[in-house]
Amino acid sequence: MAKTGDSCAFCGRSSREVNMLINGVSAAICDDCAQQAYEIVKEQMPGKRSSFGLDQKDLPRPEDIKTFLDQYVIGQDDAKRYLSVAVYNHYKRLLQKVTADDVEIEKSNIIMVGATGTGKTLLARTIAKLLHVPFAIVDATVLTEAGYVGEDIESILTRLLQAADYDVEAAQRGIVFIDEIDKIARKSDNPSITRDVSGEGVQQGLLKLLEGSIVNVPPQGGRKHPEQKMIAVDTKNILFVCGGAFDGIEKKIAQRLNTRVVGYAANESTAQVDRNNLLKYITPTDLKSFGLIPEIIGRLPILTYLNPLDRSALRNILTEPKNSIIRQYVKLFAMDDIELTFDEDVFEFIVDKALEFKLGARGLRSIVEAVMMDAMYSMPSANEKELHVTLEYAKDKFEKSDVNRLQIA
Ligand code: ADP
Repeated sequence: MAKTGDSCAFCGRSSREVNMLINGVSAAICDDCAQQAYEIVKEQMPGKRSSFGLDQKDLPRPEDIKTFLDQYVIGQDDAKRYLSVAVYNHYKRLLQKVTADDVEIEKSNIIMVGATGTGKTLLARTIAKLLHVPFAIVDATVLTEAGYVGEDIESILTRLLQAADYDVEAAQRGIVFIDEIDKIARKSDNPSITRDVSGEGVQQGLLKLLEGSIVNVPPQGGRKHPEQKMIAVDTKNILFVCGGAFDGIEKKIAQRLNTRVVGYAANESTAQVDRNNLLKYITPTDLKSFGLIPEIIGRLPILTYLNPLDRSALRNILTEPKNSIIRQYVKLFAMDDIELTFDEDVFEFIVDKALEFKLGARGLRSIVEAVMMDAMYSMPSANEKELHVTLEYAKDKFEKSDVNRLQIA
């Protein structure tokens, strides 16, 4: 008799006839049979749990979601709270049963406004880590109206389908992060008669998705395969989170605040306005002045903002988050059995340079990279098992690196 590991106990094929045999205590199973068994289990189990794997009782509560976000994202408390509640409500909405009371929870898509590099994408990505729903990030700058060069709006759903491994049911409950939504604003507040290929037309297209409709999606994206079979996707339950820097929107906010305070106890109200962070006063009206059409704004009812990152936020970003930049370098070196340590003032130096070159959080990594480059090149083949980075070392390596390149980045 063949011993365990020689053939599949289900189909009887020998190890030579299959790709892989998985051994158990007294029998083995081949990859094909394991796959089939998995399909059977999947089919036989519906209804035990909600189809996205969570019951109401083990939904992450808004406070849990925020605590999770806190581990990865520094500051931005308001945005975190808004997102946590929106995601929690999204889950509840997915769990809602059709009842006789006719109350149907509608979805609340989100829009986050904040300068580039303040953590919008990071927030969205971190939420995705926690979730049990498919998640896709798309960039609004590549979208154009159907028929023009660029990507059709439907390509957003192609990404989501891909993230869901083409499981349409799962994709229909997913979350999409649309970055740079401000880039599809129309150029002026007044609707123009001339065609605006990348602005209003795209917004109109997007509106269809946000509102909830059945959209035919090319599974591979693009228009290069006209013969491909379309997949119908219902966007009713997809949560859309939009993000944008909305450069210059502060001016519109300031204008609005000024007009409002004129006349009425003007001094008192202006005194309370934080001129350094006007974004926190943003309202849907400002989005309209910026060039988003009212219908889109109406479909993004949750509006929140991100704070600019100050010195202490940048300092924290360097070392505090669970996968902070410094921790990542320590790990890289540890993989070569090298213990990497830093003097405290090195961090201050890195933050100084990021501020000096106006690089924000995004620049922190390039600066650390510039400092560590030589060591990363030579240490893996050397015998040293320790690297202690002092301020002097950091300054020296940074000066020798191509600093000008950073300035343009
Ligand atoms: P945005 O989408 O707002 O342009 P990102 O989320 O892509 O910015 O941020 C760029 C990088 O900067 C992130 O990958 C992260 O390393 C860092 N970063 C930005 N903001 C934060 C923050 N609040 N907390 C931690 N890291 C941040």
